[in-house]
Amino acid sequence: MIRFENVTKRYRGTSKPALSSVDFEVQRGEFVFLVGASGSGKSSCLRLILREDVPTSGRVAVLGRDLRALANRKVPYFRRHIGSVFQDFRLLPSKTVYQNVAFTLQVTGSSRGFIQQAVPEALALVGLDGKQKRMPHELSGGEQQRVAIARALVNRPQVLLADEPTGNLDPATSVDIMQLLARINAGGTTVLMATHEAGFVDQMQRRVIELRDGEMVRDEVHGGYGDTSNIPRLVPEEVRGAAAAAALTAVQEVQRQTADLSVVRAALAEELSTQRKAAASAAPTVDRDGETVIPPAPRTVEPPEPARSPEPDAANVVEPPAVVEPPAPIRPRTHPITLPTVDVAELGVADRLGLSDEDDEEVGPTS
Ligand code: ADP
Ligand code: MG
Repeated sequence: MIRFENVTKRYRGTSKPALSSVDFEVQRGEFVFLVGASGSGKSSCLRLILREDVPTSGRVAVLGRDLRALANRKVPYFRRHIGSVFQDFRLLPSKTVYQNVAFTLQVTGSSRGFIQQAVPEALALVGLDGKQKRMPHELSGGEQQRVAIARALVNRPQVLLADEPTGNLDPATSVDIMQLLARINAGGTTVLMATHEAGFVDQMQRRVIELRDGEMVRDEVHGGYGDTSNIPRLVPEEVRGAAAAAALTAVQEVQRQTADLSVVRAALAEELSTQRKAAASAAPTVDRDGETVIPPAPRTVEPPEPARSPEPDAANVVEPPAVVEPPAPIRPRTHPITLPTVDVAELGVADRLGLSDEDDEEVGPTS
């Protein structure tokens, strides 16, 4: 889905390359952290993926396209398959939340009907329904980043690139955003997130690609279990108070949740299939909010084990854990689970997030 082949990037007027012989491949549906100190080349990588820049040597292929061979006039179409979010949110300050999310669709010529459906769905997905009319300055930092994420997702991109998306946020809010990105990934969107917060990432059990001075020094499938002795840990000594403890609890909960992502995705796909079958065989009913109500699917599995994440609630945390233990390794589940946290409204959104069978094709021929 994203492939770097021996990529070197040298900026004009600099002696050292920003990227040296970088080689990796990201598969569809993966969640990958791109970590490294400031200046290590993370943003340069993301710019190459977006075709905002081209390598000095080597090859970058994204969604089956060799970006070197991609004509300039095709770049805007290519980018519609890639959502991106940044540390500084980049919202339009004079537009409302709704208008910020709708804007890209408007300029790319989406129909009014599509916009009216897609924007509220994207805002619901990021937990911002009800704030459509707010201006960006009336929102917290975390909420502004949620708007940016809704905007990035509204066009159903196959890939979400996030460049230090938590860089301007406090630890508890950062965890909320991480949970949201994990959930988006569970819906099938490939996520590549650049961050310099290595300690935080090391607790997430996701693939980690580390850059140091433009060179790839690590690529670990479950991340964070190599030598972490010199990586700062997210412990209460560093981020004091109950909020930090709540953040830790939430990080560990994200780990547990995301261990089951394949199960979650399969369950979502099953729900969608049931939804389609139900739509084909019976007229859907409409509830009083105007939402289409799908009759519950017959279940062939055991009642669900609750897999809800507790909201990080600083007030309820009495005893912060003294030390963060590395989480237990992921083991295969010994009992089936279903998806208790997914409601019908969310299923509508799942379709937009790349779970749809119809949207499986690549942008162009694989090269
Ligand atoms: P990171 O995102 O990890 O902080 P960057 O990719 O932004 O790293 O930068 C990698 C290196 O490339 C740094 O040394 C930076 O100064 C240099 N660099 C980035 N962009 C440019 C540019 N447009 N012109 C010259 N040097 C650049
Ligand atoms: Mg950067």
